[in-house]
Amino acid sequence: MKGERIRLENGTLIIPDNPIIPFIEGDGTGPEIMAAVRKVVDAAVKKAYGGRRSIVWKELLAGEKAIERLGEPLPKETVDAIREHHIAIKGPLTTPVGGGYRSLNVALRQMLDLYANVRPAKYYPGVPSPLRYPEKVNMVVFRENTEDVYAGIEWQAGSPECEKVRRFLNDEMGTSIPKDAGIGVKPISKFRSQRLVRKAIEYALNNGYDVLTLMHKGNIMKFTEGAFRDWGYELIRNEYADRVVFEGEGEPQPGKVLVNDRIADNMFQQILTRPGEYGVIATTNLNGDYISDALAALVGGLGMAPGANIGDNHALFEPVHGSAPKYAGKNVINPTAGILAAKLMLEYMGWKEAADLIDKAVAKTIGERKVTYDLARHMGVEPLSTTDYTEALISNL
Ligand code: NAP
Repeated sequence: MKGERIRLENGTLIIPDNPIIPFIEGDGTGPEIMAAVRKVVDAAVKKAYGGRRSIVWKELLAGEKAIERLGEPLPKETVDAIREHHIAIKGPLTTPVGGGYRSLNVALRQMLDLYANVRPAKYYPGVPSPLRYPEKVNMVVFRENTEDVYAGIEWQAGSPECEKVRRFLNDEMGTSIPKDAGIGVKPISKFRSQRLVRKAIEYALNNGYDVLTLMHKGNIMKFTEGAFRDWGYELIRNEYADRVVFEGEGEPQPGKVLVNDRIADNMFQQILTRPGEYGVIATTNLNGDYISDALAALVGGLGMAPGANIGDNHALFEPVHGSAPKYAGKNVINPTAGILAAKLMLEYMGWKEAADLIDKAVAKTIGERKVTYDLARHMGVEPLSTTDYTEALISNL
């Protein structure tokens, strides 16, 4: 079947009924996961829209498969194709340790300026969780993806560059950094903080979340983390004042988003002690990295954790986990994280009916205690293979 390209018109993505969606299979367990993802998505779209809508998948090469066939891990055609088609989905890609090429995932996020790393953590009944009331967990982290200590600006202790920076700081800025210190820089900018917070508040408003929390460590890092909070509030006051209530300034109101902020260490406590009181969390890069893994642990771990990397006109969906190479080819891996990433993609496309079908089918299948090894070992049931689990899920659509 011939598909049509997703187009950008006046800042809005126009999604045809038969869009071409590029996918990257990924390394290790990636091919098994992406096979399950495509099968479930095709079945959900068919069920939701009859024959009226369907996705035309287009494979792009990256990682080991690209090296084998084209001699490089991230060919220009792959990046260009994602740019041209606006929306894509990928399996996990291996990053070689100690040499080889740098993370393709990070490279893709940077090249396409996918500045919001979106990581939902929602509990499906029956999933083993360390929490007493895990059903209260339904949070979505918006993690800034482009700056903070992740910008990679750091110098090794003892290197001439480090010494130059140390001297400048000590001699001209009045600091007293010891000679044997490595030095890193943490840039947090107004523009990048505000565009992230804008994405988060828009998501809360459009997806029925009634709380937005700015998570930061501004009590200690006033001009980076504290500024993130202040710029976040400023943006919301300037652009969304009529659609929100600020904590301490009024009672929560139906249809309005309650906006508050929490210091990062407290936030880790809050997600355990009062998970039902939070919805969307907007935060800086490092905080977001930590809190989203902590949240994933509450709702079944990496096999259940979907992610998206979203920019202004581009979005790349993926499971949060890596390529889990030790399970490659064994037909055991849990494909749910990838499937839930596809659900996010369908929501982003506005194909909500198909997304809802997937959500309900995941809940039903897990509710029937049909799960892969990772959940089965905590539930005391026989694990299903990846393919049997996928079939069970499709029959529950
Ligand atoms: P990983 O691939 O995420 O796997 C770590 C462990 O997490 C697995 O051994 C398994 O634990 C569990 N796990 C992960 N995915 C699962 C799934 N779908 N179902 C069930 N359990 C799952 O992390 P890693 O071993 O540290 O990284 C492997 C490679 O992936 C590295 O090259 C890394 O750089 C890369 N990576 C890529 C991405 C990405 O593409 N976005 C993200 C992270 C890492 P048990 O064995 O305990 O069951």
